[in-house]
Amino acid sequence: MEQLGFEFEVQPRKLTKVSPARLATFDDCPRRYRMSYVDRPPPTRTGPWAHSTLGAVVHNALRALFELSPARRTPARAAALLAENWQDGGFADARQAAVYRERAQSWVAEYVERNDVSTTPIGLERWVSAPVSPEPGKPASLIIEGRADRIDERGAELVIVDYKTGRRAPDEYEARGSQALAMYAVAAARTLRRPCRRVELHHLPSGTVAAAEHSEASLRRHLTRAEETAEDLRAATDDLAEGGDVQSLFPARPSARCAWCDFRPSCPEGQQAAPPAKSWELLAP
Ligand code: SF4
Repeated sequence: MEQLGFEFEVQPRKLTKVSPARLATFDDCPRRYRMSYVDRPPPTRTGPWAHSTLGAVVHNALRALFELSPARRTPARAAALLAENWQDGGFADARQAAVYRERAQSWVAEYVERNDVSTTPIGLERWVSAPVSPEPGKPASLIIEGRADRIDERGAELVIVDYKTGRRAPDEYEARGSQALAMYAVAAARTLRRPCRRVELHHLPSGTVAAAEHSEASLRRHLTRAEETAEDLRAATDDLAEGGDVQSLFPARPSARCAWCDFRPSCPEGQQAAPPAKSWELLAP
């Protein structure tokens, strides 16, 4: 069965390309969106964050693991790949980095022990893209695109897998409510021409999997919200190009998040909103 009805014949206006990251950034703080995607050269940023480094290392190790033949995907090999991909950016010192390297080696080794890793995914950090319309029968209004951590093929359907390494284990409500996962499901179904409704968050520190099955209606709800945000960010970007006021088009939205925002050094409002976090404070305990 075809998943969601997309229309391609007539495109009355230029389609906005959006990724889940862009939409989430604009929703969270329009100024951070502007600094991330509009300002060139980009404003001064903080240095690396240890939690981001750790996440990237785990992602790279698991990607390398699934690129091996199934027989070589052992716990020991996973731990070795983690060490080979290791980076120290953002950690307090070499000792803390070593503690987390060992911890992350345990995470990936246990992941291989607990999960069936014998099937080769159909996509590893695969780029997916699709023109979509949230309303059936209407012309496409935006192009969603992005890079999914992993796309599995289970029976006749695809499954979106997203790795997590944060402090808290996500639950099924988070999986269901994730706009990013829903957008990857829609784009993967279109790109790979197979149904895709199941999305999963694999949390390495706790070894848990939070899963959700989308319906056509729930995917459409996510697309409707994505379209609204895409409209707002397109209007703000166009108005800025025509000489609009940058502060009102991309207002700062200070919150606790400012403590670890990459663009804090370039944002006076963010500096006033929260004291700076240490670069290792967001590591999983
Ligand atoms: S520091 Fe806060 S207000 Fe400033 S760009 Fe970052 S998130 Fe937005």
